[in-house]
Amino acid sequence: MEYDVIIAGASFAGLAVAAQLRGKRVLVLDRKPIGTGQTSACGTLVSTLRALRLEASILQVHDRLVVHTPGHTFTYIMPEPFCTFDYTKLCHLLWEQADATFVQAPALGFEDNAVITPNGAYRGRIVVDASGWRAALGTSVRPDLVRRDRLNFGLETTLMYQDNGLHFWYDPRGLLPMGVTWVFPIGRLSRIGVGSYLGDTRLIRTLDRFLHTLDLERDGIHGGYFPYELRDPVVGDLFLVGDAAGQCLALTGEGIRPALFFGTHLGQLLRRALDGEISIAEARERYRQLVLARKRGYDTLTRLQRILPRMPLPLVQGLLALIHRPRVLERAMQRYIRAFALPISDISHRYHTTGSPHTAGWEPGNGAELPPPA
Ligand SMILES: Cc1cc2nc3c(=O)[nH]c(=O)nc-3n(C[C@H](O)[C@H](O)[C@H](O)COP(=O)(O)OP(=O)(O)OC[C@H]3O[C@@H](n4cnc5c(N)ncnc54)[C@H](O)[C@@H]3O)c2cc1C
Repeated sequence: MEYDVIIAGASFAGLAVAAQLRGKRVLVLDRKPIGTGQTSACGTLVSTLRALRLEASILQVHDRLVVHTPGHTFTYIMPEPFCTFDYTKLCHLLWEQADATFVQAPALGFEDNAVITPNGAYRGRIVVDASGWRAALGTSVRPDLVRRDRLNFGLETTLMYQDNGLHFWYDPRGLLPMGVTWVFPIGRLSRIGVGSYLGDTRLIRTLDRFLHTLDLERDGIHGGYFPYELRDPVVGDLFLVGDAAGQCLALTGEGIRPALFFGTHLGQLLRRALDGEISIAEARERYRQLVLARKRGYDTLTRLQRILPRMPLPLVQGLLALIHRPRVLERAMQRYIRAFALPISDISHRYHTTGSPHTAGWEPGNGAELPPPA
């Protein structure tokens, strides 16, 4: 059977593309069952999940970001709330929107609009690589697509620990010279992790030392690489999206919002191409332009990731204090947030969830409303 669109990778980017293609013949391939491959702390903006009707996956809403450094703690009240969410639930909610066929199989390569798998080849008019940092299909067209020296690496464990806000620790002398540790609370539990800006994978001892400072012990582990430099979003006939296209942001390591943003827009462009409103070549060009329009912002964050951890600690603290000023924070955050803003859909914001949100004035399961959009 020939499909309209084949998508390799059923996580944030791939499912966001599929969700825009209801009614089309879409095949989604993943080496794992949908919703089982969590690698991240799953922190993102509430408004992003609201725009995509994914609020029911929210576990806790956070109005603040807290950066801990030796001797100083900086608390930033966010102009828009962030949240932590349930990865499996979010994937299933997106999948319900998609109306596509799922096959559990690894995509091994791409040739003449066919995706090669151990079950045989699947043909599609359009093929999308959303397989994460390895770009399983992109590398079969361009073997040098993935630069190992452009990857960050992170490890995480989930433990009983409660807090408010998203917390980062930057302690270059005591914990990790070129990296950060974090605590992302999800109700009674927290996702606690460590990330290296050098792509260093030997982080277990650092994680254990960090856990020790919180009186905790590791229990299970997940994580992996996340790219910090944009790659070409179109390689030959292939569309790439999410980490496969290097769309994770440097410094902050935020990759979910870009994956959902570019995935949604790419899905909409492909729908228009399939409906004959634009050609596939035009869809390629428009998608390329959408990504290119954000390249300057990506490059700035990449430079900051290289420079900031090499600066003397007092200078970093000075910068953190500067951003702490309300007007500077507001301007910086608005630019950062707006780059990937999705329009709020006209759905009702009332929702029910069985999750365990943990935030002042906000109770789940009783039809309460999330904080209003900024
Ligand atoms: C420890 C850690 C913490 C993080 N925390 C955050 C956070 O809190 N907030 C945030 O915004 N970002 C975070 N990130 C980054 C974020 O996880 C990624 O940017 C995001 O997952 C990218 O989404 P994606 O859909 O492009 O790729 P992925 O989520 O990596 O999904 C790729 C999918 O493709 C599948 N796949 C892979 N190879 C193949 C193949 N050959 N054939 C078929 N399927 C394949 C995989 O099974 C997977 O389902 C974190 C990353 C790490 C490592």
